[in-house]
Amino acid sequence: MTDEQVREIVIVGGGTAGWMTAAALAKSFYKKGRRIRLVESDEIGTVGVGEATIPAIRTFNEVLGIDENAFVRATKGTFKLGIEFVNWGNIGEKYIHPFGVYGSPMADNIPFHHYWLKLRDAGYDRPLSSFSLAIAAAKRGRFSRPQNIPNSPLAQMAYAFQFDAGLYAKFLREFAEKREVQRIEGKVDSVALSQTDGSIESVTLASGQVIHGDLFIDCTGFRGLLIEEALQTGYEDWSHWLPCDRAVAVPCESNGPPIPYTRATAHTAGWQWRIPLQHRTGNGHVYCSKYMTDNEATNILLKNLDGKPIADPKPLRFKTGRRKAFWHKNCVAIGLSSGFLEPLESTSIHLIQTGITKLLSLFPDKRFSQSLVERYNKITAWEYERVRDFLILHYKVNQRTDSDFWIQCRNMPIPDELQNKLDLYITGGHIFRDNEELFGIPSWLAVMEGQNAHATGHHPLAESREAERLHQHLTKMQQVIAHCAESLPTHADFISRHCASESWP
Ligand code: FAD
Repeated sequence: MTDEQVREIVIVGGGTAGWMTAAALAKSFYKKGRRIRLVESDEIGTVGVGEATIPAIRTFNEVLGIDENAFVRATKGTFKLGIEFVNWGNIGEKYIHPFGVYGSPMADNIPFHHYWLKLRDAGYDRPLSSFSLAIAAAKRGRFSRPQNIPNSPLAQMAYAFQFDAGLYAKFLREFAEKREVQRIEGKVDSVALSQTDGSIESVTLASGQVIHGDLFIDCTGFRGLLIEEALQTGYEDWSHWLPCDRAVAVPCESNGPPIPYTRATAHTAGWQWRIPLQHRTGNGHVYCSKYMTDNEATNILLKNLDGKPIADPKPLRFKTGRRKAFWHKNCVAIGLSSGFLEPLESTSIHLIQTGITKLLSLFPDKRFSQSLVERYNKITAWEYERVRDFLILHYKVNQRTDSDFWIQCRNMPIPDELQNKLDLYITGGHIFRDNEELFGIPSWLAVMEGQNAHATGHHPLAESREAERLHQHLTKMQQVIAHCAESLPTHADFISRHCASESWP
């Protein structure tokens, strides 16, 4: 009987995607008769940005068995409770999209926000933000991991990290190499395809070394050396919905203790990120080249830093969209090689994580069953589209009149599914989470309300609560949340106590 097992796995690319993949495969396959090799080129380097994450990354680290404090220390990381959006609805307005929930469950099995909407409709003025522990803590610069206190909002504290992605890749490289992943330094010059079925047989390095494999994982970044240049799977362009196509990034000195959240400030033709780490602050300006020159974008970024720049501005170009096939024959694209969605909601590293999880759950043998491949491609396309729609929402529901860019974004036609989500909310306060959709009710609610796409109704079942008593209940809830937030250590104290790196002040 022939051996149908995939034994030779070759990962091409050693950025965040390459080393996350290598670490996860090493964890699953260590001493199980498979060889994992990773090829990366020091000469080409990595994209070198990508520092903010969402809470699901904690699961990735937990599955690997990584000690969280050691990881935060090694990556000079900080904790993240959400993203503050500044100037998105109108100039001068801001809101936080928090991790975790708003309020606490009520008895009638309808989401909490319907009660909040009912009160608002009845004329009570209670800001949505005051029902989020993450927002209350973020605004006070406080942080703690969840605490095991029954019925307390503190039990539900949700958080992610802001870290140096280069250091994360280094950390995972150590993890993977300890579990027998072999790293090969070198530049892939050519890719050999099988004459029989067009799958990848080998890659050849500039040194002449030939590397054969059963399964190839393309982590080569935007260019997609295997999935696109060799296999020509094609790209679905989404820039008519997400028109920003360039970014310029620059780190600067920290100007005080790091805040436990990322900031996204809208400018005239894009937006600027601010990500505080232990040793510096990451900044970048994502913009649309149709409405802004590179020089203008760099000047706006430099003018809006709150510390001294510590490197030269780094320009980046991209096209929003996704590969038409993420998995083709014996090649799976993970990371930027699989597609790109701008970092507005810090989703790229997450999409790497879900790519790896799906690959492991659908792990093939050498027959590369077409149904497995189709399944992978179908779920991945769906995940990309759901994240895409959530990002488009931020652009669509703006009321800015100061630039053609924002006016164009507001007037653009949007995907039907997104239009349906917006209609459902605006007409009756309804938000539904489909299947495993990444962003749930609190996320949609935060952005729609934060950018003035207000609901004009609420669920009829919320009528069962008498307004004055509901008001008293929600007032108490707000007080508990504020009190819990107040009781937490400052973010800086928490880092000092548990996970300060050597460069922490
Ligand atoms: P890369 O980092 O580009 O790595 C590619 C690898 O392939 C490198 O090791 C390179 O040497 C290797 N390679 C390429 N060609 C060859 C060859 N011929 N031979 C050998 N090796 C080769 N994500 C988030 O989750 N949060 C964020 O806040 C965030 N911010 C971002 C901001 C911007 C402006 C951009 C552009 C991206 C951002 N991302 C963010 C995305 C994030 O940076 C990427 O998802 C992540 O870094 C993974 O990149 P990668 O490993 O796929 O590609």
